[in-house]
Amino acid sequence: MNTIAIIIVVTIILDLILNGIADILNLKMLKTELPEAFSDVYDADRYKKSQEYLRVNTRFGWITSIFSIAVILVFWFGRGFPLLDQWVRAFEKGPVVTGLIYMGVLVSFKALISLPFDIYATFVIEERFGFNKTTWKTFILDRVKGLVLSLILGVPLLAGVLAFFEYSGSNAWWICWAVVTFVMLIIQFIAPRWIMPLFNKFDLIEDGELKNAIMDYAKSIKFSLKNVFVMDGSKRSSKSNAFFAGFGKNRRIVLFDTLIKEHSVSELIAVLAHEMGHYKKKHIFQAMVIGILQMGVMFFLLSLFISYQGLFDAFYMEQKSVYAGMIFFGMLYSPIDFFVGIFMQMFSRKNEYTADRFAVETTGKAKPMIDALKKLSANNLTNLVPHPFYVFLNYSHPPMLERIDAISKIKAV
Ligand SMILES: [Zn+2]
Repeated sequence: MNTIAIIIVVTIILDLILNGIADILNLKMLKTELPEAFSDVYDADRYKKSQEYLRVNTRFGWITSIFSIAVILVFWFGRGFPLLDQWVRAFEKGPVVTGLIYMGVLVSFKALISLPFDIYATFVIEERFGFNKTTWKTFILDRVKGLVLSLILGVPLLAGVLAFFEYSGSNAWWICWAVVTFVMLIIQFIAPRWIMPLFNKFDLIEDGELKNAIMDYAKSIKFSLKNVFVMDGSKRSSKSNAFFAGFGKNRRIVLFDTLIKEHSVSELIAVLAHEMGHYKKKHIFQAMVIGILQMGVMFFLLSLFISYQGLFDAFYMEQKSVYAGMIFFGMLYSPIDFFVGIFMQMFSRKNEYTADRFAVETTGKAKPMIDALKKLSANNLTNLVPHPFYVFLNYSHPPMLERIDAISKIKAV
């Protein structure tokens, strides 16, 4: 093993150990007593169920990650990468097409391996806890649509990146950065209108009390809002949510039908106020800028490593290629990804507090926000007492209790 191989293997093991420790600490936190603040939305049974849900998912997460690491290591040290390379090179299709086939085979292989796990998670675990509403037809159609979309959108983009790194020399990294950024922005722009409707039905919210209340609130904070959409989230799961999509004139606020069913008008306004808070406080814009910068750094580092002999030696490759270099660099990049991810989650958790505060201050009420969060936790069987280390590694949102605590303090001001 050379240095590169050692770095990658050590990273994989460290990641496994860190997450293992976090999981153990997290499970140890499962006190049997229900936190006082939640006594009105949970009964003893439901609380027990939420703890069991965490246990089952933690165990399943372990099986999934150990299995996938084993597959990667066996493929890697069984010389799978050079064997596949010999096979695709035999077609003599030129570097770009060869690269597409090489990556296509690996991606398909990965998808095929994770398929039984996806099926188990949806039809066994989610089913057991009463969340699953996905039919087999929806499940299969989702995968087919996803595949077609990635062929239409992903393949040309990947072909472009391969071609630039193959033929544009030292300019490749910033050309790729510019092109990928441009394409991503376009996809985000058209997604609410052209892509998301392939998977879900989006209806304009019905005229009535809720719509009026939303429009009045939006006007009060000078948020230009033409429409609010209701999505048939109940097609897949009984879990509920609300989100923002797209930007510019395609910008949409979307409420899950499951959310509307469970919450009062003032709670829904609080949830939307929180979402609009993210927008007004420029969180969405900032996240987008950080994402774009991050991608620039990644492409630059890729350009430094893509023809580095040590990277190919680590995977027993006899010949260098752009496509294999990209895959291996992706593995070498994972420690950076890990730290960036932790930083991004800290940033996101901070933004959640800000958006909560925005919602409370602009609606003038704390109770609906608190009630909404409590109902959401109960409905989605959220872990109420995650361990801080687990939160540090995995949470993009602060734990519910801490959010509620922070919100109650705003009220006191
Ligand atoms: Zn939020």
